[in-house]
Amino acid sequence: MPEVKVANLSKRFGDNAVLRDISFTIADGEFFTLLGPSGCGKSTTLACIAGLERPTTGSIAVGPATFVDAGTFVPPEGRNLGMVFQSYALWPHMTVAQNLAMPLKIRKVDRRTQDGLITEALGKVGLAELKDRYPHQLSGGQQQRVALARALVYSPSVLLLDEPLSNLDAQLREQARAWLKRLQEELGITTVYVTHDQEEALALSDRIAVMSKGDMVQIGTPKEIYETPATAEVAAFVGRCN
Ligand code: ADP
Ligand code: MG
Repeated sequence: MPEVKVANLSKRFGDNAVLRDISFTIADGEFFTLLGPSGCGKSTTLACIAGLERPTTGSIAVGPATFVDAGTFVPPEGRNLGMVFQSYALWPHMTVAQNLAMPLKIRKVDRRTQDGLITEALGKVGLAELKDRYPHQLSGGQQQRVALARALVYSPSVLLLDEPLSNLDAQLREQARAWLKRLQEELGITTVYVTHDQEEALALSDRIAVMSKGDMVQIGTPKEIYETPATAEVAAFVGRCN
């Protein structure tokens, strides 16, 4: 699974510069977290990687594939990325299995292959036996895992997770965190994780990129960020006051 390379990414909405010259590289199999307070540009960065937003300038590549540069824009459906957002938005009128079938239908995977892939993806999140349930018959934590299975069902090269645990209550969130980390290690899938929760970032990540008001402030391991914050703002944000 490939590395992700984001270089000199900038994004403006009208006069509002929400990303200013953001650069980072994510290694193959790494759990990489974008951390920062609400409004700092985390989701916009993820949306640019996903192809849901078009950067004003900059380039984005995954492995050998250039998704964005001055003359290139690959649309979202050409990027083979798995995505889970805060409101994981399962289709309420479809069973778990039907929810997972949808991205496969879109990709024109034949019916028999679909069934195998759905069983496999639900197995990864430990929910194979719930495939005929409807979303409202599942707990919040189970729904979140179904959303993750739906993002994994077509074997994406990279997983993009935007605050996927924030709809869960504190206790479930704790469990889901441990479980998510274990799954990512088992699958070895390169993951870009977005959160405003410093504890979550410190617990889950191989490396953390701290953002502030559209700027990239510091990139490092949880230990580096926690022990040697680059600025007073980072120190305050990760909960360490020198
Ligand atoms: P975060 O995910 O870190 O909370 P966002 O990336 O969602 O931050 O937003 C960063 C800034 O960009 C915010 O000021 C937000 O209002 C603005 N923004 C995000 N999306 C749009 C949009 N589609 N149009 C205009 N402004 C936007
Ligand atoms: Mg956001």
